[in-house]
Amino acid sequence: MTVPAPVRPPAVYVTSPFASWIRVGDEVRHQPASVVHAKRAGTTTTLCGRPASSWPKFWSLDFVRVDGVRCRACVDRLADPA
Ligand SMILES: [Zn+2]
Repeated sequence: MTVPAPVRPPAVYVTSPFASWIRVGDEVRHQPASVVHAKRAGTTTTLCGRPASSWPKFWSLDFVRVDGVRCRACVDRLADPA
């Protein structure tokens, strides 16, 4: 019997103040509906410092490749975390 590897959430994931549901064929997707920010798991703020603990989280989306408008400050912080 093969035990599947545990699925780990990404270290940095996409979050957005607003979200919407769209239908794509037979699938219903939850997606960001405003500027997308990056957030590290276990923190309460985005990389740019906005409080985001109540914002929708999109664990399966990659902040680097996400469609839509990415927060410039989060992009800068991700590129240069110091
Ligand atoms: Zn941001």
